[in-house]
Amino acid sequence: MRTAYISHRACHEHDTGEGHPESARRISAIEDQFVTTSLFDVLRYYDAPEVTQEQLLRVHSAEHLEALEAAMPKSGYARLDPDTVISPATLQAARRAAGAAVLAVDLVMSGEMESAFCCVRPPGHHAESRRAMGFCLYNNIAVGAAHALETYGLKRVAIIDFDVHHGNGTEDIFSEEPRVLFCSSYQHPFFPYTQILENSPNRVSVPLEATAKSEEFRAAVTDHWLPALDRFKPEFIFISAGFDAHRDDEMSHVCLTDQDFIWVTEQIVRVAEKSASGKIVSALEGGYDLNSLARCVEAHVRVLMDLH
Ligand SMILES: [Zn+2]
Repeated sequence: MRTAYISHRACHEHDTGEGHPESARRISAIEDQFVTTSLFDVLRYYDAPEVTQEQLLRVHSAEHLEALEAAMPKSGYARLDPDTVISPATLQAARRAAGAAVLAVDLVMSGEMESAFCCVRPPGHHAESRRAMGFCLYNNIAVGAAHALETYGLKRVAIIDFDVHHGNGTEDIFSEEPRVLFCSSYQHPFFPYTQILENSPNRVSVPLEATAKSEEFRAAVTDHWLPALDRFKPEFIFISAGFDAHRDDEMSHVCLTDQDFIWVTEQIVRVAEKSASGKIVSALEGGYDLNSLARCVEAHVRVLMDLH
């Protein structure tokens, strides 16, 4: 399988300050892992382009975009909320992170690549149409999905989010969009403390107890996501790939293992092969324990490439 690896130097330069869990060390850990395991030898590297205003406006309000630009400090740090630290290089990183998802869609739709992994930060799935939150400024995966709908005229795309936090931003952006099926699982109650909406033909949200382990997670996927995906028959699949439900990750209480991330990626690949000719774009969301993050991203990409 030809898989693109999309990132940008700017994603390293987004500085969140000493001790912040969402740091550039996350991307360095992943890239070190890819070097030591020779995964980079079989991936095609692409520099993420800057997202355009038009691409952002498909999912964010003009007011949100203006407010973000106005909030960027010239030096030092500022906070958009207690967790979301920004600094002078942040906007450029966010523009590359969202641009990565757009390029990923273009590469896969053109057939140049069969799948793509966007190794980017800041992450995106908490960013709503009108607000930044939870380390996220622009909703990268939503920008990618909207690009697939608007530029390529796709009728059905699925976004699958296995980050341990609820992808409230993605849910907010596409709640009234029948062309998008959003499947998520997340620890509940937990940040971002979203109210659970009733599931619908385009929303399958599965809250997990803090005590959840492999069994509960796999049941959520098997009993809820897979039947919905089977009915929906997505033409393209996006993954909000967060690895903070790992048992070694102190950000949450859910206890998944490396094997669970491999397994869920296999399930997604199977769905993609069935209805989407294998087309998958995955973008990094959370994952804060550097060792398990690096290992699980490597394993995730190997499954996308059919190399495991
Ligand atoms: Zn998360």
